[in-house]
Amino acid sequence: MMKLVIATRNAGKIKELEELLADLPVHLHNLNDLPNTFEPEESGATFAENAALKAKSYALQTGLWALADDSGLEVEALNGAPGVFSARYAGENAVDKERIEKLLGELAETHGSNRRARFVCAVAVADESGEIKFNAEGICNGSIAFEASGEGGFGYDPIIIPDGFSATFGELANEIKQSISHRKQAIDKIIQQLRRFYDGLS
Ligand code: IMP
Repeated sequence: MMKLVIATRNAGKIKELEELLADLPVHLHNLNDLPNTFEPEESGATFAENAALKAKSYALQTGLWALADDSGLEVEALNGAPGVFSARYAGENAVDKERIEKLLGELAETHGSNRRARFVCAVAVADESGEIKFNAEGICNGSIAFEASGEGGFGYDPIIIPDGFSATFGELANEIKQSISHRKQAIDKIIQQLRRFYDGLS
């Protein structure tokens, strides 16, 4: 069976990606099984560029196919921030709670009523030579809550109320997030491309 490395050390992403990719006929690895790998600098200006550079780097480091996700939150009233800086928004060593507090503070400073936001996820798959074979993007629209609530998910989930719901991703069941998220939408497109590729091999 073909091996595919999920190219992230983010525990929340690993869990979600493993669930979303569970039906594919591939043997999934993640970077925790491959400790001798280093993290490339996320120097891209877009989610798609960062996903591609991570997929390529980890494919070359491991000699395996690699799937990378680059994702984040874009807040309309903050002109799309934190965007590609979502993980580093409150400094390199900050924790989720500090990023959330910073975001709620900056949004309050705009004194506006616009709390629209969206999660964006770009996914890229590279083959063992580092060539990008597939890529896709998914978007999940919503709004920013006034305070954090819920323990589910990870990252900014306690402050995102997805459209069509009145609770945050932190409060909603995992199954709901996994059926509508930005990551789910990007991965569905990647799965279609991977299935077509595997069908062509047999
Ligand atoms: P990346 O690892 O550079 O892609 O950073 C993505 C960052 O965006 C994460 O550390 C989270 O803070 C945030 N993020 C991405 N996807 C999600 C999600 O599904 N829920 C909550 N936060 C997310």
